[in-house]
Amino acid sequence: MSRFFSEKFSSLVPYTPGEQPKDMQYVKLNTNESPFPPSPGVKAAVEEQCGKLQLYSDPECTQLREKLAQVYGVSPNQVVVTNGSDEVLNFAFMAFADEQRPLAFADITYGFYPVFAEINRIPYEVIPLKEDFTMNPADYIGINKTIVIANPNAPTGLAMSLSDIERIVQSNPDNVVIVDEAYVDFGGESAVTLVDKYDNLLVTQTFSKSRSMAGARLGFGIGNEKLIADLNTIRYSTNPYNVNRMTEAAGVAALEENGYYMANCRTIMENRAWTIRELEKRGFSVLPSLTNFVFAKSNAIGGGRLYQELKKRGILVRHFGKERIKEYNRITIGTLEQMGALMAAIDRILEEGNL
Ligand code: PMP
Repeated sequence: MSRFFSEKFSSLVPYTPGEQPKDMQYVKLNTNESPFPPSPGVKAAVEEQCGKLQLYSDPECTQLREKLAQVYGVSPNQVVVTNGSDEVLNFAFMAFADEQRPLAFADITYGFYPVFAEINRIPYEVIPLKEDFTMNPADYIGINKTIVIANPNAPTGLAMSLSDIERIVQSNPDNVVIVDEAYVDFGGESAVTLVDKYDNLLVTQTFSKSRSMAGARLGFGIGNEKLIADLNTIRYSTNPYNVNRMTEAAGVAALEENGYYMANCRTIMENRAWTIRELEKRGFSVLPSLTNFVFAKSNAIGGGRLYQELKKRGILVRHFGKERIKEYNRITIGTLEQMGALMAAIDRILEEGNL
C-alpha cells in the first residue's frame, strides 16, 4: 500500500477472480465460462465496429436494450446494460442500500457481494445457508433489508423456487430484492416474469455464461422503470460509456442467434448429468446443480488436495478455502471431451493413492 492510499479503503479486501494462468495449456473448468465460441454473427458484428472505434459508443445502448426487451418481454425502459453483471450489481448496491437499508445475503454465495458492500460502506447481514446448503426462505421474509440472492446460487449450484422468491419480494415491499440470475439459463426459473408485479424487484443476468461472452463483459438488469432510472443515475455518474461499441454489437448479434446459445445450454445440461453420474461412481457427493458447474466433494481426498493434484495434471477447478466448503471443489461443465479428461485425471489421482 502506498502512503497515498485513502484511509477509507485501507482495510478493503478485494475480490479474488478465478486464476487465469499462462504457464501451460489447462483444461479450464474454474471460472464457469462456456466451452463454445460465440456464434458467427457476433464475430462479424465486432469486426464491423472495429472500423468505428474512433467514435464513442451509444450511452443509451438503444439497440441492445430494445433487443433485450423483445427477448425478455419487457419495455426497453425496464432494461439497463452494464460492463458485466458485476457492474449492475455494484450499481444496485450503491443505489438501493445504505445505513438505513443494510444488505442481507447468504454466507455461502457469490464472493463479490461483501466486497461491493465494503467498498460502498454498506453494512450487511450474512445469513447462513441450511446444513444442506439450501436457502431457507423464512430467513428473508419481512426482514426490511436490501436482499441479494444468487438464484441459482454459486458456488453451490442450488436453486430456490420462483414462488419462494416471490414470497421474499412480496414481504419486503420497502426494500429492493436483487435476484442475481447469472446461471439461470441452465435450468433455473427466472424472476423476470414478476417485474411488472413488484416495483421492488431487480433481476440481473449476464452474457458471460450461457452466451459465451465472458471476455466481452456484458450484463444487464431488468426491473421497474423507476429502479432502472435510479441505476442510470448511478451509471451516468460513473461511466456513461460503460458498454463499448464492440460489445453492444456483439450482444445484439448474440440475441439474434439466441437459438444457438440455448442449444448450447441444453448440451451443457446433458454434460452436467453425465458428469454428476461419473463423479458419483467415483465416490463423490455432488449437489443437484441447475447451473453450468457442479459443487462436489470426494469421499477419498480432501478438497484442497484434489484441486492441487488436478492442477498438476493440467486441469483447473475452483477451490474455496472457507471452512464450510473447503472439502468441495466447484467444477465448470465443459465439453464431454473436457469432462472425460477430468475423470481420467481423477482416476489416476485415486489409483496413485497416498491421499
Ligand atoms: N453473479 C454470479 C453469481 C457469478 O458467479 C458471476 C461470475 N463471476 C457474476 C455474477 C458476474 O459475472 P459477469 O460480471 O461476468 O457478468
